[in-house]
Amino acid sequence: MAKYDYVIVGSGFFGAVCAYELKEKGKKVCVIEKRDHIGGNCYTEEIEGIHVHKYGPHIFHTNNERVWHWINQFVDFHQFQLNIVANYKGEIYPLPFNMYTFNKMWGVRTPEGAKEKIESQKFEGNPTNLAEQAQALVGKDIYEKLIKGYTEKQWMKPCMLLPKSIIKRLPVRFTYNNNYFNDKYQGIPIGGYTQIFERLLEDIEVFTETDYFDKKDFWDGLGEKVIYTGPIDKYYDYKYGDLEYKSVHWMNKMYKSKDNYQGCAVMNYTDSETPYTRIIEHKYFDNQNQEGTYVSWEYPQPYERGVEPFYPVNDKVNNEKYNKYKKLSQQQDKVIFGGRLAEYKYYDMHQVIASALKKVETLL
Ligand code: FAD
Ligand code: UDP
Repeated sequence: MAKYDYVIVGSGFFGAVCAYELKEKGKKVCVIEKRDHIGGNCYTEEIEGIHVHKYGPHIFHTNNERVWHWINQFVDFHQFQLNIVANYKGEIYPLPFNMYTFNKMWGVRTPEGAKEKIESQKFEGNPTNLAEQAQALVGKDIYEKLIKGYTEKQWMKPCMLLPKSIIKRLPVRFTYNNNYFNDKYQGIPIGGYTQIFERLLEDIEVFTETDYFDKKDFWDGLGEKVIYTGPIDKYYDYKYGDLEYKSVHWMNKMYKSKDNYQGCAVMNYTDSETPYTRIIEHKYFDNQNQEGTYVSWEYPQPYERGVEPFYPVNDKVNNEKYNKYKKLSQQQDKVIFGGRLAEYKYYDMHQVIASALKKVETLL
């Protein structure tokens, strides 16, 4: 008899949701986490009274009633709508693409005027890549000022070589509405994200600074089953080659004697020359009039083994490679693969939670 029913690798949302739900159903679980903290990329740390999103800005948004009710068991939310400001060489545009953006770009004031303008410069035909898809949605001017530079910095490759699905994440609206997301429920957890993970993992043994691969056989022996939420290619020792990821890193600064650095939570730098993609001013996620302000500059970073794999690159070549790994993973039932890295999907938090809740149901 193994000591645990489930050994769970990773304490991000996928691992922590599985751990909590399985424990609630009477299963014995433990969690191992290679970082020195729980929460995966949603981790927030309190610095000078500000909840700092250590791995980039995280806004909770969902249309999924079940997920919204589920997460509200653990935390209350501040009302928060993300309004991103795009800065193109000093020209300011609101995002996502909406009537305010079209008015600033072209002076148009009506939805009809905006549609005509887009129609006159849009990509015709069936878009096959991000460059074509973007110009089909919003035309050439917006593509060149607000999309091309940002995207090519962020993904470190030409828009022509990127999957069109990436740009479809952003709403295009013919109304005056700067809300970055369309979802019914949106907010920021009061007190930050980390406490959600503390509650989820409250009565569970958690081993931080513990890399599964350092003692894989030992951990496998401790669990009847293993739930793995790290990169799937690494699990299989890159047997079919490396999957491609995109990484980022942050430069941070606490300003003790400045209360307002940029006047908003997120400003995107959409030109190609500025080396960073965006500046994050964390106090604006849950403004409590704190003194001082904490600011992060987000820079793109190439991925190689050993670097944090923040974004999957879901183009055809990588998806095909992933499918080979997925097939392998389906041939065994000892290990369950889930989450953004193990499923190689550009998941948002609510999607990871939904996927973990579903997985636990099928396991039980
Ligand atoms: P992760 O959070 O990556 O957790 C996986 C965990 O497994 C990590 O803690 C890792 O250290 C651990 N691990 C990996 N390998 C091992 C190993 N060998 N041994 C032990 N531990 C291991 N989503 C939103 O909904 N809204 C947003 O605004 C938003 N913004 C984002 C901004 C950025 C910059 C990024 C990168 C993501 C953003 N997301 C956002 C997505 C969100 O972060 C993910 O959906 C979510 O964190 C995925 O959870 P996960 O458990 O799958 O993975
Ligand atoms: N994007 C852009 N300009 C912007 C913001 C986003 O071109 O100012 C594109 C870019 O390709 C990005 C994609 O839209 O990768 C999705 O943006 P999102 O904000 O969803 O990215 P994430 O928060 O996941 O980094």
